[in-house]
Amino acid sequence: MSFLSESLARVKPSPTLAVTQLARELKAQGRDVIGLGAGEPDFDTPDNIKAAAIAAIEAGKTKYTPPDGIPELKQAICDKFLRENGLKYQPSQITVSSGGKQVLYNALMATLNPGDEVIIPAPYWVSYPDIVRLGGGEPVIVEGVEQTGFKITAEALEAAITPRTKWFIFNSPSNPTGAGYARDELKALTDVLMRHPHVWVMTDDMYEHLAYDGFTFVTPAQVEPGLYDRTLTVNGVSKAYAMTGWRIGYAGGPELLIGAMRKIQGQSTTNPCSISQWAAVEALTGPQDFLATRCEAFRKRRDLVVAGLNACPGISCAVPEGAFYVYPSVAGCLGKTSAGGRAIDTDEAFCTALLEEEGVAVVFGAGFGLSPHFRVSYATAEDQLTEACRRIRRFCEGLR
Ligand code: PLP
Repeated sequence: MSFLSESLARVKPSPTLAVTQLARELKAQGRDVIGLGAGEPDFDTPDNIKAAAIAAIEAGKTKYTPPDGIPELKQAICDKFLRENGLKYQPSQITVSSGGKQVLYNALMATLNPGDEVIIPAPYWVSYPDIVRLGGGEPVIVEGVEQTGFKITAEALEAAITPRTKWFIFNSPSNPTGAGYARDELKALTDVLMRHPHVWVMTDDMYEHLAYDGFTFVTPAQVEPGLYDRTLTVNGVSKAYAMTGWRIGYAGGPELLIGAMRKIQGQSTTNPCSISQWAAVEALTGPQDFLATRCEAFRKRRDLVVAGLNACPGISCAVPEGAFYVYPSVAGCLGKTSAGGRAIDTDEAFCTALLEEEGVAVVFGAGFGLSPHFRVSYATAEDQLTEACRRIRRFCEGLR
């Protein structure tokens, strides 16, 4: 009898965390490494949010809370959904968890039965397929290719739906490509979903506030109100408010689902950190003007990185609508040999050689379900990004 659970064998470790760890180890050995692997803003959490957390500690708000969130935060989330997304939720339709990841995890654990299918557009955030597998479900991958801006088509979505489809996971702007669906592009998908009433929609809106060049963010239940009763609208404070370590994510959805998610959370982690919840109240109700300032800083970095990568022989990099990632293709580098003598036959080989020979850590595309690409997180200081692009260019120029 195996000591470890069989379900563990269905899950692989996160390649993003693996690259970040390797970069950390190389740095510890004294190597000069630029890490472009981690998906978190380098900005600090705003002072008013920190102050709210300190005030919560001093006021003794340091005890258990209701398992899926304090009433004040649930109300702030209802107000946010109405203000920014035109979605009307009651506090009884809101859940708060330890990060967006736990929200997604709870929803899948609460609903999946063996053999249930979950449609996931590729390239995808690495955790979606693994959480689905952990829950006993089967990921069904629908590829969005570079030619369509990494977005899936209505036809491809329609073709993937079967009587066993339980969820469609949607993520815009996307990790890892930064691709954002405009209203008409999303409407084409929601039209398909309206024809299949057994399919639920899990929309991961984590990068809502990171959108550039006038791109207007939209979410499925807003574009198609007919989907409201079978949509879980997931969001969080991690990315927009530079609060990755505080661990607060949330969602709005039908009470039946929210109640089931509460049950999972009540028997696993109980409430998210009480202090972080009070900080999140301040994040959602306090000043929002810094969002636009930070967004502009990210847009500048995106332009710097896209230009820098497109100057590298063998690399082509599309300009994404949002998030803080780009997803360049290395098709033009495959079949070559690096200056250090490494055969570049896959995107993984490209990324390994780049790290070993030039000290730049990026994540290979195979981990996100679409090769030959790699993901760059540009949530890093401009001088680091400039130097990274210089090194990537030198690496590419050295390929024979
Ligand atoms: N969803 C996407 C698309 C992400 O990129 C991430 C974090 O990288 C998450 C969810 C998880 O966010 P959190 O840190 O709030 O758990």
